[in-house]
Amino acid sequence: MSTAALDLPLASPFPPYRSLSDDLLQERIEAVRQRLGPRLVILGHHYQQDGVIAHADLTGDSYQLSRSAAEREGCEAIVFCGVHFMAETADILANRPEQVAARGRRVTVVLPDMAAGCSMADMAGIDQVEDAWEDLGTVIDTADITPVTYINSAASLKAFCGRHGGIVCTSSNARAVLDWAFAQRRRVLFFPDQHLGRNTARAMGIPLAEMALWNPHDPTLGGNARAQLEQARVILWQGHCSVHAMFRPEHVDAIREHIPGVKILVHPECSMEVVDKADLVGSTSYILRQVEQAPPGTKWAIGTELHLVKRLEQNHPEQTVRFLSPTVCMCATMYRIDLAHLCWSLEHLERGKPVNVIRVDDETAKWAVTALERMLAVR
Ligand code: SF4
Repeated sequence: MSTAALDLPLASPFPPYRSLSDDLLQERIEAVRQRLGPRLVILGHHYQQDGVIAHADLTGDSYQLSRSAAEREGCEAIVFCGVHFMAETADILANRPEQVAARGRRVTVVLPDMAAGCSMADMAGIDQVEDAWEDLGTVIDTADITPVTYINSAASLKAFCGRHGGIVCTSSNARAVLDWAFAQRRRVLFFPDQHLGRNTARAMGIPLAEMALWNPHDPTLGGNARAQLEQARVILWQGHCSVHAMFRPEHVDAIREHIPGVKILVHPECSMEVVDKADLVGSTSYILRQVEQAPPGTKWAIGTELHLVKRLEQNHPEQTVRFLSPTVCMCATMYRIDLAHLCWSLEHLERGKPVNVIRVDDETAKWAVTALERMLAVR
């Protein structure tokens, strides 16, 4: 990145940025955006706080964002205001070998705060998944299992799926992906989110008796009897999103009593008990669509991340939008990305000294793309 126009002091290491006012940080962020123009793309995930979203070129869910940024003409750097796995996906999609060869350089992908991880993604480490695969092989034939990873997972897990004939899914296409997976093989190993896996499989008519739950911390076949695994069509990884796990069935009962006629709209990362009590269940895009298309006067209680629900409430004053839980459920790791981190990472990027660069190694990226491309081919 050219740095000629920058004459502001570049504080390093990070702490001095903390002492800057929000107004000054915003000014400096916008100044970098202006100077870099289309060479820079800032991505803001739907769950991101408003102050950061205000500086995003694109907002959306993780996969939409990565794809759109990868397709942007002239983009040299992506700053992903999301969490770690999202920045990995952006690096994988923006830096496929043919794209790098065509443009003669890599796109630099930056995560403003490296501590912005995902508790769900962290619940499935590649070593744990490799061990589980080996252990499963002592009971059932792994050639009979399609591994399916939710996009909310590390690049190494996506690569595992790529190598083993598996696939990636999002919360929008989980059903179609599971249909594809069962067309390949008789069983599915679904990770890292047990709830998305269970809710989707149940909606397909697969009974709970044909699902097993794999606890990666239980050395005895993930806590399963051999017979249980033998009869399982879906083996669910015991992971969850700590945000969506906060919604409880009693919250649904309470809000129905409090707001007569309210529609309960939840994300499929919520537990089966919550999903069973909801009126509508779907991905973030689905949730947005439902509210956008509803007539004035519609009353909603929404079970997903707080910042998204608050934004819907602000943008739709003609409807009643409420948060489903009485407690604060926000993505605390994504919230780590604030104006100070954004400004710090942008100014270093402009100076040609990028910080927090996310770079997936070529071998992992190759197999992760294989699993992502299988997903893209699913209709
Ligand atoms: S909301 Fe949940 S799944 Fe999404 S990034 Fe945060 S912890 Fe991960």
